[in-house]
Amino acid sequence: MISIKSKREIELMEIAGSIVYQTHQHIKPLIKPGANILDIDLEAEKFIISKGAIPSFKGYEGFPNATCISINEEVVHGIPTNRKLKKGDIVSIDIGANYKGYHGDSAWSYAVGKIDDDKKYLMEHTEKALWQGIKQVKPGARIGDIGYAIEKYANEHNLGIVRELCGHGVGNHLHEDPDVPNYGVLGTGAVLKEGMVIAIEPMLNLGSDDIVLEDNDWTVTTLDNKPSAHFEHTVLVTKDGYKILTGE
Ligand code: MG
Ligand code: MG
Repeated sequence: MISIKSKREIELMEIAGSIVYQTHQHIKPLIKPGANILDIDLEAEKFIISKGAIPSFKGYEGFPNATCISINEEVVHGIPTNRKLKKGDIVSIDIGANYKGYHGDSAWSYAVGKIDDDKKYLMEHTEKALWQGIKQVKPGARIGDIGYAIEKYANEHNLGIVRELCGHGVGNHLHEDPDVPNYGVLGTGAVLKEGMVIAIEPMLNLGSDDIVLEDNDWTVTTLDNKPSAHFEHTVLVTKDGYKILTGE
C-alpha cells in the first residue's frame, strides 16, 4: 500500500530531508584525493546526530555504517572501510537520516580531483536522468512515466541501466511501496497522488546493465568493472507537481 502523508508527517520529512541535504554539503569538502572514506562516513554520522536525527542506514538489515560509499565500478551499498580516495575516482555517497521516525534518502556522485571525460559524461548524464524522472512527478502521473523518462534518457546517452535495484516510497520506513524502477512504460504502474513521497534514484553504468554482488553480501559492482554513478532525491508529490525534500 502506498501511504499518503499527513501535514505533520510531511513537516517531519522536510526536516529529515533537509538534514540529509546538509550532510551532503558538510562532507563534500572532505572528498579529495587521499581522504579515508571511513573518516567521511564517521563525519556524516556525527553531523546527522548533531542535527537531532539518526543515520537511517546504520543497522538497516545489518548494514554496519551510517553511509554507503561506492567508488568507481561499485554501484551502491559500498561499505566505508579504511580505504583512501584517489585522484580520478568517482564516489557515490548515499545518505539517509531518520528524524523523529521519518526518513530522508539522497545519494550523490562526486568527482575526486580531476576525472576523465568518460566519468564526467557518466556523472553529468546520470544526474540529468534523475531530473528527467523528477520532472514527471505530479498527481495523476504514473510510476511507469518516471521509469520511462529515465530509461529513454539513459538509452539516448548509451548508458547501462541497473534494473535489479530501484527507487522506492519513503516515510516512517526507509523503503516503502511503491517500487520506482529506472525503466518503464508510459501510463502504467501506480498513480501518484498528493502527499505521496518517493525516492527516485537512477544508477547508470558506463558499460552494460549487468551487476554482481560482492562477497561481503552488500557491495554491488558492475560486471564489466566499468564505472557507475548514482543520483537520488526524496520527492514529495504536491497539489500541482513536486517538491524535493532532500534539496536546498
Ligand atoms: Mg533510496
Ligand atoms: Mg539512498
